[in-house]
Amino acid sequence: MGSGAANASYRGRIAPSPTGLLHLGHARTFWIAHSRACEAGGVLVFRNEDLDGDRVRPEFVEAQLHDLRWFGIEWQEGPDVGGPHSPYSQSGRLPLYRDVFERLRRVGMVYPCRCSRKDIALAVSAPHAADDEPVYPGTCRGPTDWAASPGRPVAWRFRVPDGEVIGFEDRGLGPQRIVAGRDFGDFVVVRQDGLPSYQLACTVDDHLMGITEVVRGADLLVSTARQILLYRALGWAVPGFFHCPLVTDENGVRLAKRHAALALATLREQGRSPEFLRASG
Ligand code: GLU
Repeated sequence: MGSGAANASYRGRIAPSPTGLLHLGHARTFWIAHSRACEAGGVLVFRNEDLDGDRVRPEFVEAQLHDLRWFGIEWQEGPDVGGPHSPYSQSGRLPLYRDVFERLRRVGMVYPCRCSRKDIALAVSAPHAADDEPVYPGTCRGPTDWAASPGRPVAWRFRVPDGEVIGFEDRGLGPQRIVAGRDFGDFVVVRQDGLPSYQLACTVDDHLMGITEVVRGADLLVSTARQILLYRALGWAVPGFFHCPLVTDENGVRLAKRHAALALATLREQGRSPEFLRASG
């Protein structure tokens, strides 16, 4: 990584979820993360976000490491190379998330919720961004009639400050203003299956891994606002954020893992070179 002295103060990360093959959109975002770490003379961490239960498959973990290395991305810490913050797969870090959750619970910032997705969909009338979950209507915020839903599994939600503007200066997209209670609602930190949510696991890891700048897709802007609330609740320094514009297909539809034609593995098999793909962005 560069020839100059490493700048120990910049720590970036890439954090793919092994639920499918990575496509050109992921590669572009991760390439920006890689380039920013290189330019800063810093470190890039590879974190394997493998908490998505049934959708995670070991062969996708292997494929991600292989495809991204083929694309030209280098990382200094990760599940395959180790490092001071091991393990780098979230499935090996569950006790860390549990400890942080207990802290939030002790100070009363989270509450149990027994609503199903269907309950929430029925209670919500306001439209929400297609990318994001509906704003939680607050059904379980106050005293709840637990007898009405006996035996239902419990999730835990973070109580957001309704009406507060979460503002931050995005290093890619400029100033952002996201309103708690309007753009997003009380969000899940521990899921009904007992696993930590993406919001909790990601925030805990970015903090514990000493990440100074988070580079990711613009589809996660609202999640960044949620995570800023978690940083604040836990008294942790908030990293810098750089959100990348999303890559779309020829119909303007955002790339998803189902766009097999644009999977890195497919492009490689067709003989495309990483240099060509990087330049065509
Ligand atoms: N694992 C998430 C994803 O693949 C990325 C999370 C992030 O960069 O914060 O969408």
